[in-house]
Amino acid sequence: MGTYRIAVLPGDGIGPEVTTEGLKVLEVLEQAVPDLRLDCREHPAGAACYLARRDALPPETLEACRRADAIFLGAMGDPKIRMPDGTEVTPQITLRFLLDLYAGVRPIKMYSNVGSPLCQQDPGSIDFVLVRENVEGFFASMHSGLVVGDQVATDTVVITRRGTERIVRFAFELSRRRKGNPVTGAQGVTCVDKANVFRSYAFFRKVFDEIATEFPEVQTNHVYIDAMALYLVQRPGDFDVIVAENLFGDILSDLGASLVGGMGMAPSADIGDRYAVFQPAHGSAPDIAGQGIANPLASILSAGLMLQWLGEKHGDPAATKAAGLLEYAVSQVLEEGRVKTKDLRGGASTGQVGDAVASRLR
Ligand code: ATP
Repeated sequence: MGTYRIAVLPGDGIGPEVTTEGLKVLEVLEQAVPDLRLDCREHPAGAACYLARRDALPPETLEACRRADAIFLGAMGDPKIRMPDGTEVTPQITLRFLLDLYAGVRPIKMYSNVGSPLCQQDPGSIDFVLVRENVEGFFASMHSGLVVGDQVATDTVVITRRGTERIVRFAFELSRRRKGNPVTGAQGVTCVDKANVFRSYAFFRKVFDEIATEFPEVQTNHVYIDAMALYLVQRPGDFDVIVAENLFGDILSDLGASLVGGMGMAPSADIGDRYAVFQPAHGSAPDIAGQGIANPLASILSAGLMLQWLGEKHGDPAATKAAGLLEYAVSQVLEEGRVKTKDLRGGASTGQVGDAVASRLR
C-alpha cells in the first residue's frame, strides 16, 4: 500500500488533548510496522472554529475529509458557544449525514483494572459491538422538528427499508467476522427495538428478520430497548453484536461505556461505503478540559479501529498488524495497572498514558 492520507480534526475541549496521544501512538506504529505509512494533517472544525469563522465545518475541511482515506476526529462542541437558534454546533453529526456514514460502530470491551461497576465481570467477559444506525431514526428530524405556538413540539422517527437493510446487513457481516465473544462464547446479532408499541420499530424488526435469512449461520435474537438497558447491566456477556435505531444506539452506547470504565474507554467508528470517521465516543468534556487528566485510551483505541478498517478495506496486512499491536499494547498497559488517568482511579496525566502505550509498542 502507498501512504494513507488521514484528515485529523482535533476539535474542542479535550478533543485536541486526546488526539495528540492518538497521533503519538500512530507515529510509533509507523516506525514499528515498516510498510505502514500515514500522512496525518490537521484541519479546523468545531465550536472554536465556529466562533472564529462563523462556520463549524469550513468547506476546505470538508474537502480535505472527502480527499482523505480516513478521518480521525477528537471531539467537538462547547456549551458556551451556541448558534442563533440556541443549539450547539455539531459538525461531527453533520459529517455523518454529508458523508453518509450510516454505521455507528461502538465496541464495548472490558480490559483489566478499569474499575467496572459490575464487580462480577472478568476482563474480556464484556466484549460486544453496538451497531447504531447513524443517519435516520430520530436524528432524521434534527433541526426540523416542529414547535407549534409554544404549546406542542414534535420530532419524527424515520425508518426506511434501505437504511434498515444496510445497517442490519452491516451488523450480520460484522458478527460473521467476529465469531463471537471469545470468553463467554456469546454469538450472533441482537435486534433492539420497541416493536410492541411503535409501527416504525415493528418495521425495523420485520426488515431485520428478512435480512437474517441471508445469514442462516448467524444466530439472532430480539430485545426491547427497555429490557436491553436491564440486560446490559445484568448479563452483558450474553451479547456479541447489537443493532439499533439511532437514538436507542446513542443511549445504549453510553450505558455500554459505563460498564467498561466510562467514556474514556469507549472508541467509535462512523462508517459508510466510501468514507469513515474514527473518534472517541465521548464529547469535548469541558469540565475537565485543559487539566491534562482526560483519558486518551478511547482516542487511541479509535486510531486502532481506523487501522483495522484500512486493513480490511485495502486488504493491507501492515495496517491490520498495526491495529493488533495497538490493541495489545493498550491491554498490556492496563493489565500492568500503573499508568491510568483519574477516571480509572489512577493519577497519570493524559500524556503519560499516551507515553506508556507508545513505549509498550517500542
Ligand atoms: P456530549 O454532550 O457531546 O456527548 P459531553 O462532553 O457533555 O459531550 P461526554 O463526553 O459524554 O459529555 O462526557 C461526560 C463526562 O464524562 C464528561 O463531563 C467528563 O467528566 C467525562 N469524560 C468524558 N470523556 C472523558 C475522558 N476521555 N476522560 C475522562 N473523563 C471523560
